[in-house]
Amino acid sequence: MTRCPLCKHAATLFLQDKKRAFFDCPQCAFVFVDPSDHRMPSNSSTPIQSYGRQQKAAQQRQATQFVLPLLSQLSDLTGDNLLGLNFGHSLDQHCIDKIQASGHQLLQYDPFKATEQAVLQQQYDFVCSYKVFESFKRPLNQWALLSSLVKPQGWLAIGTALLTDKSHFAKWHHKNNPAHVSFYQHKTFEYLATQGQFKLLFAAKELVLMQKAANSGIKPILI
Ligand SMILES: [Zn+2]
Repeated sequence: MTRCPLCKHAATLFLQDKKRAFFDCPQCAFVFVDPSDHRMPSNSSTPIQSYGRQQKAAQQRQATQFVLPLLSQLSDLTGDNLLGLNFGHSLDQHCIDKIQASGHQLLQYDPFKATEQAVLQQQYDFVCSYKVFESFKRPLNQWALLSSLVKPQGWLAIGTALLTDKSHFAKWHHKNNPAHVSFYQHKTFEYLATQGQFKLLFAAKELVLMQKAANSGIKPILI
């Protein structure tokens, strides 16, 4: 039996294409590639190299376009200077300088590179992650880590293409990228919000925004 890597419920075969088998979960609506079809074991360097190749100027620009408006909106909500973590594609120094000049601080962590672990030892006013969730091969671990990094009443912003119509999944270009192994529906984030004591504020197209409950008992995970 294949179990959902996000909630451990029994999953069912959803689609078999020429290259990979996809399962979906009736409990959390997560759709995932059969782990035996992952291109390489999780400790292989290949996904890292693949991810690195993608990390070009255009992608950095996209990540910047994701983070800056988000930061501006969160800042308007609180009126405070914010401490954030960018979990994923690194932003360029120009962007970081711009954020610092506006009184905020953004630390960065690239989950596919052995970068500074110390940034995972504290909590943040907000954590943002752009186009990374689709590459998670152990989504439950990554979710546990990310949700632990957010302060009570802090925000978690996720940039990933939501699966909105399963009937079009077979032809969905996002699914055909071999680096993409995890696909989320609106219901998946509803499930995660409940599990992680978050309020799901927004989930549409390519942005998911959650706010952690004030009384969340989730503690930081010590790495
Ligand atoms: Zn599930």
